Amino acid sequence: MDNFLIQIKNIFQGAPFATCVFDASGTVLYINPLFESNISQEDLPFVGKSLYHLIHQFLVDDRLEKQLKRLIETDKPFSLIVETLSSPRIKAQGFLNIIGYKLNSVYIIIGDYVSGGLAREGRYKQLIEGAPDAIVIMNHGVITFSNPAFNTIMDMPVHDIMGKELFSFIDEKARQDLMAIKGNFAKTFFARINVNTSSGQKILEGNFHFIEDRPGTSIALLRDVTEKVSLEKRLLRQNQDLAAVNLISKTLSSSIDLKEVLQNTLAQVLQIMNIETGWIYLLKEETQRLKCAYSYGIPEDVVHSIKELKIGEGIAGRVAEKGEPIIIMNASEDRRIRSLLFKKQGIQSFASIPLYSRTRLIGVMNIGSFGQRIISSEDERLLITIGVHMGTVMENILLFQEIANTSKELKDALNLIRQRNEELRTLVSTVSHDLKNPIIAINGFCERFLRSAGSKLNDKEIEYLKAIQESGNHMEKFVSNLLTLSAVENLKLVKEEFPVHTLIDNISIEMAEQLNQKQGAIITESVLPRIKADETRVMQVFSNLISNAIKYAAPSRALKIQIGYEPAPNTHVFYVKDNGMGIPEEHINHVFDIFYRTHEDYAEGTGIGLSIVKKAVTVMGGDIWLKSEIDKGSEFYFSLPME
Ligand code: ADP
Repeated sequence: MDNFLIQIKNIFQGAPFATCVFDASGTVLYINPLFESNISQEDLPFVGKSLYHLIHQFLVDDRLEKQLKRLIETDKPFSLIVETLSSPRIKAQGFLNIIGYKLNSVYIIIGDYVSGGLAREGRYKQLIEGAPDAIVIMNHGVITFSNPAFNTIMDMPVHDIMGKELFSFIDEKARQDLMAIKGNFAKTFFARINVNTSSGQKILEGNFHFIEDRPGTSIALLRDVTEKVSLEKRLLRQNQDLAAVNLISKTLSSSIDLKEVLQNTLAQVLQIMNIETGWIYLLKEETQRLKCAYSYGIPEDVVHSIKELKIGEGIAGRVAEKGEPIIIMNASEDRRIRSLLFKKQGIQSFASIPLYSRTRLIGVMNIGSFGQRIISSEDERLLITIGVHMGTVMENILLFQEIANTSKELKDALNLIRQRNEELRTLVSTVSHDLKNPIIAINGFCERFLRSAGSKLNDKEIEYLKAIQESGNHMEKFVSNLLTLSAVENLKLVKEEFPVHTLIDNISIEMAEQLNQKQGAIITESVLPRIKADETRVMQVFSNLISNAIKYAAPSRALKIQIGYEPAPNTHVFYVKDNGMGIPEEHINHVFDIFYRTHEDYAEGTGIGLSIVKKAVTVMGGDIWLKSEIDKGSEFYFSLPME
């Protein structure tokens, strides 16, 4: 007990408040010097007397007595403002703010005068007690008063705070910081301190003020900034993360070469995170294996041992399987790390992140720190974001490569087709060329044989010979058409000016006999101009169209072929119309295809004529189209560019 009293004495001896310590019977055990100095000599000593008795001599009402009794009965601390009697036995008269609480087995009241009008209105008490900020008054660091806001922050009853040093609630580092700050400022300083409260560590900040006329007395006005600080930290982290992602995005979009992108991005991630090593796996979809595509900061032989992983194998394999990152803060203690690789390399903390595009997993990035920097769950958000960025860009690059490869394949295929086409054309023209003479010979000899031996042959034999001759003629026509087609395509264009009407006149003369057979007539409907074009090809166009009109004339009516000209912007448009049998609708789109025929039963042909026409118009830079109605007739139009 004595020891405890000595301790109490030490605390309150120099206190700026009047302090009185008493036992459960109300007997005074100790009063501090400030208390003593406010009471007249005749009432001293206080120690050993009944506090209740004394109270009656000094105070206006008995509320303090009631509170004291309650404190002793229930241990409930109290705070009260009481008025002193105006008596010469009390040196400072007025209102006293009194706090009472139990400390171990004794009871303590501390009182301070509240000044003037404020006190009379009871506002002083209200102000301090109701203040949203924590107010702590200390005497040489020992807390002699704390308001409810401080008690709430500390999550402790007032008597657990009162009489303790503020330092006992803060750690060594905070103490040193506080002392260092205090050393720099004479009267007032601002500080932020970590305080250990009943509900964990909190961060308080505010002003510490030393009262000049009461040496050793200080007041701290503090505020709980725990949330603010963590918010600040989070904001700072988010800002840093954003800047990091921004930098990485720039690097990612700096190239379309996958290797270069991986190299630069990994280097950047390591730099931003301040860690030393990393390696990236790409997922091979066909084999469902992860292949190490690029590594940094680990020796070649080590890279070799991690070159390929199955899905689910190793940490990266598990990340690929689950699609979630794995972060290992302490590799030496983590059971997930089985590989000796980490131990040998001295990797301390480690993260494995999936690289995801919008639709699929592209790969996995592993990063490791040798010690300086610990990769922790705080890095997870940043790493996931980086993973998604990288995955998306990598997918784009891979798609781009695929497109590039496909378009190369397409180009190669096109070239092959062109080459084959060319070969085929050469073959057709060579074969046609080579066939032409023997066919002419066969036809000629057949003719001569019929003429010289015709009378000696019987009807059957003559019929056979005529069939040979007919087939020969067809073949000759066929070969000659093929040769024309090949020539139309391959021969050089010769542009000359010529009158189209002369050309039509010549064709009319040439075809006069066939026309007569069908009782046909060619009518030129408009003035046909002089044009500058390849005359041979224009002739081939007109002559094929007119010969078809004659060939496919309707047997029921006299054939009428109309030829005309329609000027159009920058082009000449000519037409050849007939009133023949027309072309069924379903065939209209195909008549220009080589070997395509309709009306086979009606007239002989090779199916090459309109192909020659189309090719001739096309090589001259024009276009050809037609309208046709079955049993009414057909209209062929073609355009040629004006010079
Ligand atoms: P061919 O006349 O040797 O059969 P073409 O290439 O000249 O070959 O013509 C293709 C087909 O188009 C012909 O078989 C014929 O059925 C149809 N055709 C062409 N011109 C006419 C036309 N003026 N009237 C009706 N049908 C036509």
